Amino acid sequence: GSTIGILGGGQLGRMMAMSAAQLGYKVIGYAPEGDTVAEDVCHDFFANGWGDKPALAAFASKCDVVTWEFENVPVSAVEMIPPQMLAPHPRALEVAQDRLKEKRFVEGLGGTPAPYASVDSDAEYRDAAGRIGAPGILKTCREGYDGKGQWRVATDRDVDSVRFPGRSCVYEGFVDFEAEFSVILVRAKDGEVRFWDSTHNVHHAGMLSTSTLPAPAIVGEQVEEARGLAKKVAEALNYVGVLTLEFFATAKGPVFNEMAPRVHNSGHWTIEGAATSQFENHIRAVCGLPLGDTTTRFASIEMRNIVGAEALTAHEKLADDGEAHLHLYGKSEAREGRKMGHWTRVGQASA
Ligand code: ATP
Ligand code: MG
Ligand code: MG
Repeated sequence: GSTIGILGGGQLGRMMAMSAAQLGYKVIGYAPEGDTVAEDVCHDFFANGWGDKPALAAFASKCDVVTWEFENVPVSAVEMIPPQMLAPHPRALEVAQDRLKEKRFVEGLGGTPAPYASVDSDAEYRDAAGRIGAPGILKTCREGYDGKGQWRVATDRDVDSVRFPGRSCVYEGFVDFEAEFSVILVRAKDGEVRFWDSTHNVHHAGMLSTSTLPAPAIVGEQVEEARGLAKKVAEALNYVGVLTLEFFATAKGPVFNEMAPRVHNSGHWTIEGAATSQFENHIRAVCGLPLGDTTTRFASIEMRNIVGAEALTAHEKLADDGEAHLHLYGKSEAREGRKMGHWTRVGQASA
């Protein structure tokens, strides 16, 4: 096919659409709100609700392949798209949209999440916090991102300062990790799987701040096991496209945090740092093209997110370092805590 539909209008869709354009495809976006950052780079855009069946049908009729950049697209909307046009498989959305389902699914494949309990009332919250203990985190099962929809319980005395938010949650024990990393893979229609190197991911207040290579030694020691699990997840979902699993590297081995059935912020470095970026390989996979090489091309890499008002001075900062690559997503309002763009700095070319 020559027209790709993308569900969701954020920066991931924007970067996906830019790769698709490079490969000669037209992109049509779909998101409930207009004026999205993906729309800027799309050939056409549907600003219609996820429940708007005629609009979804019209969108699908203009596309050859449909994918998503956002894991909270309602499954009911995705089911309006003819299944043979869709990649990845919607089952991946169903699992990844719910933290409880996701943890159970990954546990079923041999993965180890943090100790957790399902919480559907204030009494269940207190019970879970009592059993699992503090420190811990209460997380809504659905719709959280960048640390939103999460409440940290620092000590047993702080249990009362957090309240059940009235939506299904999980309470999980805080993992005493040495480093965080993610496994980002791409799986082709024929089942071939390729991995990018795993960066060291540092978060601030629940939001990714930097992804760097080389990662600490412990990441290298645990990445094979983590990749094994990620591959099993991809196979169990008959996944096509880029899939991400986030992990904590701990003294007891890799602990699974969560998955994202899409390209990922911790993979933005692949645009300059890998032979083929996550965005390009996602497009290649969903279009049934051969996958590109995922090898890292540099000995050191740093991706740093640009958050809030930092974006306002980013163009000036280009003068400080001629080798820094600036990516701005074109968001008009530099609201506090909003991901506005990122910097990528690659070091020496690897031998
Ligand atoms: P994303 O934007 O990655 O989707 P999210 O809102 O889904 O974020 P999580 O990945 O669950 O949030 O948590 C965000 C960050 O908070 C983690 O990367 C980690 O730094 C910290 N965190 C979350 N859960 C735990 C835990 N159980 N133990 C230790 N740290 C945790
Ligand atoms: Mg998440
Ligand atoms: Mg996360």
